[in-house]
Amino acid sequence: MNTELPEDPQRRRLRERLELIQIRTDKATSWQEPAQTLRSLVNRAGYVPVKARLSVEDLDFLSTSREELLSFAELGLRLLDLHQPRDAGGITSDTAHPILRCRSCMWRWPCPTFRAMAEAFPA
Ligand SMILES: [Zn+2]
Repeated sequence: MNTELPEDPQRRRLRERLELIQIRTDKATSWQEPAQTLRSLVNRAGYVPVKARLSVEDLDFLSTSREELLSFAELGLRLLDLHQPRDAGGITSDTAHPILRCRSCMWRWPCPTFRAMAEAFPA
C-alpha cells in the first residue's frame, strides 16, 4: 500500500464497508453442517419447520446477508467482465500459445485481479 498519498475518501469508505461485512460474516454461525442435517427433514410442503437459537451476531449477519451476497456476486461478475484476456498482438515464436493481456489493466494474462478472484473462489 502506498502510504505517501492520503487515501481517497471513496476508496476508504468502500474498504471500511467491505471490512464490516467481513467482520459481521465471520462472527455469524456457519449453517453449512446444520443445513445438511436439516435437508433430510424437508417435509412434503417443501420446507423444514425449525427452532433455532440465534445470537445477536447471527441476526446481524442474517438481516443483511442476502443483499450483501447479491452485491458481491454482482461485483464479481462486473470484475470478471472487465478483466478478460485478449490477444496482445505482436510477434511470438509460439503461435499455439499467443501472448495474452488483460483488456482492462493490460497485465499479462491471467492478470492480478483475475488471479485474486480465482484464489477467492477456488474450483
Ligand atoms: Zn485485469
